[in-house]
Amino acid sequence: MFACEALASALLALSAPDHGAYECVETEAGIAVARDVETAHRFATAIETARSQFSVHYGSAPQQRVAIVQGNTARAELAPRLIHEGYSVVLPWLDPAEERAQLAERIRAQVAGQLPDLPDDRIDALVARALPAPEEPTPRDIALDTAAIAHELGHLWYIRTFWTAEAGTESHYGGPAPDWLDEIAGVAMETGDLLDQRRAALRDPQRGPYPPLSDFLAMPHPLAVLAAAAAEQHQGEIGEGQARVIRLSGEDAERLLNGAATDPSSYYIQARGFLDYLTDRAGRAPLIPLTQALQSGQTLDEWLADAGAAHGLPGSVDALEADWEAWLGGVRGAP
Ligand SMILES: [Zn+2]
Repeated sequence: MFACEALASALLALSAPDHGAYECVETEAGIAVARDVETAHRFATAIETARSQFSVHYGSAPQQRVAIVQGNTARAELAPRLIHEGYSVVLPWLDPAEERAQLAERIRAQVAGQLPDLPDDRIDALVARALPAPEEPTPRDIALDTAAIAHELGHLWYIRTFWTAEAGTESHYGGPAPDWLDEIAGVAMETGDLLDQRRAALRDPQRGPYPPLSDFLAMPHPLAVLAAAAAEQHQGEIGEGQARVIRLSGEDAERLLNGAATDPSSYYIQARGFLDYLTDRAGRAPLIPLTQALQSGQTLDEWLADAGAAHGLPGSVDALEADWEAWLGGVRGAP
């Protein structure tokens, strides 16, 4: 528990006066800081899940240790020390209490603006009444959130291990790897409900059809457009070293999603499906050789001609596409 000890005084400082105590849990591949011990353990579980999934899909454990910190305030406070302790990535994660406090502040500013003469205690009462009741997340919500952390770690580790150590914490929107290969790194870390959900969706005849494989391999991540638009909208609101957890209002998100060419959820499903296909054919999806080939300037077509057969794959993109369709047809026809 060396790193948690090193953080002890910073955690204590954070805890005062209205933040509540922060908890720290250390694991093999990282460290987790959260407002309560259950959440800290859950974050730590997500790190370890991602670490073991990374070993399964990429042959060895990730070298870079990561920190997951609940909330932007805590992240900003702790990041310098964590980086000093050797955690090259400090990923902020959602903090419902922080979000609620920010919402309360916005409501307070609105009320005070409209009724400038109102005494503070009356404003307090109005704010309390206007705040929606806190939502208790279901066990399923919590499980999906944990899988989402593992997903993000997959992107971070993949890019930093195989592409560039200096990659930002946000890798898959316009990052150095082809979007589909980067997205596979995310979905490959998913386990449990989220994984089951993706596979069930792929089998579901009511969903799809999915874009032809050659389109899927060439298209930008459907959320890239959305993220770029959101970043533009929120420019200036995000301070240096702060989170890039950009949250859109329902209206913003809907408008942007309607403009997206492809349903983002089907992109994840297809990425999972393609990973399962590669794994089926190759025993282990040849993610590293494929990454190295693309980095060396080979096209996928050239790599398949050279090395496809050695990995149980067809010798061209056209043949890969046909084989994928056959595999997909089998999956979707299966009871
Ligand atoms: Zn992703």
